[in-house]
Amino acid sequence: MTVNAEVEHSLHGEVATYAGGVHEVADGCLAYLQPNGGLGEANVGLVVGDGATLIIDTCWDHAQARRMLAAAAPWLHGNPITTVVNTHSNGDHWWGNAVMPAAATVITSAASRAAMGRENRLAIAAMTTAAGLAARLPLPQAIRSFVTDAHAEFGPFDFWRVRPRYPDRTFSGSLRLTVGNRTVDLVEVGPAHTPGDLMVFDRDRNVVFAGDILFIGQTPIMWEGPARNWIDALRLILDTRPAAIVPGHGPLATETDVTDLVSYFEWLDDSATRLCRNGIPPFDAAAQMLSSDTFTESRWARWRRPESLLAGVRATYRHVRGHRVRIHPLDMIATMRGIQKLGNRFAKDQRRQ
Ligand SMILES: [Zn+2]
Repeated sequence: MTVNAEVEHSLHGEVATYAGGVHEVADGCLAYLQPNGGLGEANVGLVVGDGATLIIDTCWDHAQARRMLAAAAPWLHGNPITTVVNTHSNGDHWWGNAVMPAAATVITSAASRAAMGRENRLAIAAMTTAAGLAARLPLPQAIRSFVTDAHAEFGPFDFWRVRPRYPDRTFSGSLRLTVGNRTVDLVEVGPAHTPGDLMVFDRDRNVVFAGDILFIGQTPIMWEGPARNWIDALRLILDTRPAAIVPGHGPLATETDVTDLVSYFEWLDDSATRLCRNGIPPFDAAAQMLSSDTFTESRWARWRRPESLLAGVRATYRHVRGHRVRIHPLDMIATMRGIQKLGNRFAKDQRRQ
């Protein structure tokens, strides 16, 4: 059974490019998809066992989490959520935890748990409110575009009402769980997208819930790296020859999507390492890479937000230079501003062609 929500528009107001709502990808394995997989439009997975359900990720705010639970309600009847898994520390995957049943156990990797403490919900809430107010003011163009972009990105979410609920249980490496009659393995594969990424494997139905190791139809954002870890995680998905692959953002994935990501990260790693050793600043390196023939002739060029490459270039530079890998929040903001600047330049170049 598949219940597609009547999602005609994404949360950001774009026309939906694929069906949202609950998809039963295998017996008792559900994917709740949120078109178009942009910022905060994260997918959720459910493994429905006999009398118990495991849920994978919980949305960015409470209203969004409640909509998701309402869509999944037909399956949850008689099979309550007993286990909540957060695939990583970004808020769009765990700030809905408080909406899950109080009796459920919340689990993540120890590295993600540590990183969750550094996610600043109130700063994002304040920035969203400020951006909403500032968007109405006469501002210089450079500041104006940053403010209106921030308002468009964060505006659909209510961060003030989010009550953080941190995981009760952590692990490192891997953890096998029994949910009703189902066996599920959690496998830590970070640091890659974030410090403690994990993926969930339903061994009975051979389904992978990949979290943000998979962004489909858009450029992945590598905050932490190294790219090698991300490539290893992608190979782990391919090794299981999965019957279904649920990404963290975007429509259901195919094996070709996963191999495209392997080649993208190999290119990113090789090119950024070389340009770093040649002394090219990261912004210029990312701009060069996006205008290279390898990029423009690749399938990656069709992914949305190619400028997100800059985060991966900066992360690769930190690894090549042997810097401490943990990202400072100010560094993250600098990266986001750089991504925006690169996006504007890239769009201008595209128009000229
Ligand atoms: Zn995400």
